[in-house]
Amino acid sequence: MIACTTSDVDGTRAVAAEVAATARDGDLLVLVGDLGAGKTHFTQGFARALGVTEPVTSPTFTLANRYEGDLVINHLDAYRIEQFGDAEDLAIPELLEDGVTLIEWGNNILPALPPDLLEVRILLGDADDDRRLEFTAVGAGWTERLLELAGRLAGWKADPC
Ligand code: ADP
Ligand code: MG
Repeated sequence: MIACTTSDVDGTRAVAAEVAATARDGDLLVLVGDLGAGKTHFTQGFARALGVTEPVTSPTFTLANRYEGDLVINHLDAYRIEQFGDAEDLAIPELLEDGVTLIEWGNNILPALPPDLLEVRILLGDADDDRRLEFTAVGAGWTERLLELAGRLAGWKADPC
């Protein structure tokens, strides 16, 4: 696992941009963290880094948004999944065929997800705007890229734990 800290929204977006620089078609990122942790802001930085110019908004009520950048970006929110149906309704395997997929609250639907993913956990810090971002590779694909990500985040006080 690698981790880094940010002290404002732009910091979180900038860290997300570093992650986006390592992204490939078919990637899956699971965003974990309480309401207001910064999952949507992380996705904004990620999408912007891949050339998305339209505003990235929370998919809480739409379940899934699609953006066209250098890669297609699928942005999902599984927070209310029980209310709307079940995880199969999200058609994750189909989404993964086309672009990179970020799922807020993806930990709610882990059994419905493929076993190769990057978990991004966002935790609140001491000050209001402090956040700690923890990156855990699950499966071979992200494990081999975690080192590259660690290098990119070195400037962000990445501290292996
Ligand atoms: P989530 O999608 O996890 O519910 P959002 O990204 O919608 O969270 O909201 C995060 C909130 O926290 C926003 O109001 C944002 O301005 C605030 N915030 C303060 N500091 C940070 C930070 N370092 N990183 C991300 N968001 C931050
Ligand atoms: Mg959100």
